[in-house]
Order: sequence, then structure tokens, then C-alpha cells
Amino acid sequence: MAGLLCATSAWAASDSSTTVVIDAGHGGFDRGGIPGQRIAEKEMTLEVAQRLKKVLAAAGYRVIMTRENDVFVPLGTRVAIANSYRNAIFVCVHFNSAKRAGADGIETYFYSRDSLPLASAVHHFVAGGAPSPNRGVRRRGYYVLRKARVPAVLVECGFLTNPTEATYIQKSSYRQKLAEEIAAGIRERSNVRSSTSSTAVATIPLQPYIDQTKVSSSKRSRSKHSRKRSSKSSKKKKKKSTKSAGAEANVTSAKREG
Ligand SMILES: [Zn+2]
Repeated sequence: MAGLLCATSAWAASDSSTTVVIDAGHGGFDRGGIPGQRIAEKEMTLEVAQRLKKVLAAAGYRVIMTRENDVFVPLGTRVAIANSYRNAIFVCVHFNSAKRAGADGIETYFYSRDSLPLASAVHHFVAGGAPSPNRGVRRRGYYVLRKARVPAVLVECGFLTNPTEATYIQKSSYRQKLAEEIAAGIRERSNVRSSTSSTAVATIPLQPYIDQTKVSSSKRSRSKHSRKRSSKSSKKKKKKSTKSAGAEANVTSAKREG
């Protein structure tokens, strides 16, 4: 990384100790998405993950992939890989789906407080660069996020069940853009402005977020991220929580494949 670009070499040099563990969602028999979905989520996540790997490696990051081809990797293995590296950050790449074809937009999940700056930065760039609605940053107890001992985010890069978004996602140039926006979020994660910070240096707003840690998982299928959620939160009577703020989104995301 000789300094062809000053800005690039500056952040690459200061960030080169970071290991980025990239997790391409699903794989093997776990196709992702909802039954009957035309575009396989597992293929799109891997494709974006491989592009992200190239972008990050070119910037000097050490990059580890939880999968490099179409294989099933258990969630516990994925998060164990992330936890086995010091100074790692864990970035899970997914695409959304819903029975309602109109559902669209970008959303980014995190669980631990330490992950909010990374989630804010990734979401800032991915949602900001996409021609899709901003569905916001959400806190949720997805297994891979709860079990991660390093900053961890899961970004849903649009709905494969939405005709407009699916058209974009099927273009390699758009997938490259997604990879570059995620990389920008990783690169800029330390420039997220905290709510108390008054320094002018930090330029990316800490995103407000919707706390969905109490959302019911009773409607989720076996292949969902949250299948190992505690039994307490998977009781059927929790439907009420989907009626709170962001009701439509909660219902949608409770039914869709994350
Ligand atoms: Zn997924």
C-alpha cells in the first residue's frame, strides 16, 4: 500500500492491525430467503462478501472469510471464527426478503453497545449510497451478534423479494458498490460522532436505533439467524411488541428471512 492516495494510505496504515471477519450469510442447503424465492440469498451474500474481501485486502486489512464457497457453516462456527481473532470486527452480509413484494430498504443490526459505532458507520454508507429506503439501525439478539465478543454487525443489503431492489442486486456493478460502501463503513467506524462528543473531527452521526431485542421470534423458520434465541423471547404471546413503534417493519422483519 504505497501511498498513491494520501487518504487511503493514512487509514490503511492506522487500521492494518484490524482483522475483518466477513460472514457471507447462509450457504449449502441453507439457501436463505423465504420459500419459493427466485434469487438465492446465499449466492448474493457470497458474491458481495468476496468483493468486500478484495476491497479490504487491497486497503491492507487482514481478512478472514467464514465461508468461501457454497457450503453450510453452522452459526456457532461462524461466530467462533470471529471470536478467535484479536482486534477483529465481524461483518455479516445478508439480503432481506418478505412475503410482501413491496417491502424494501436497507437495515443494519447490532447487539452489543461496542458494535453501535460500527453499525452506524456501515449503515451510514450503505443506506446513504443505495437507491433504497433507509430502514434504520436496529438492535436485535441474532445469535451471531449476541455471541460475538468483538464488534459485530449484520447488514441487510436490500430485499431480494422486491422487484426493483432485486434488479439492482443482480447487477455486478451494484454489488461492487455495496461492497465498497460496507468497506467505507469499516474504514470510518472510528469517526462516528458520539451523542456527547462535540469535536468537529467526527463526521458520521451515531445512528439512532430501534431496539428489537424483545421482538417475537415465534414466526421465524429454522434457518433464521435468531433460531437460538432464548425461549423466553420466543413465546407466542409476544405479538404485542410488533404493534409498537415501527410496527410495519417489525412485522415484516419478524416474518422475513434475515
Ligand atoms: Zn439472511
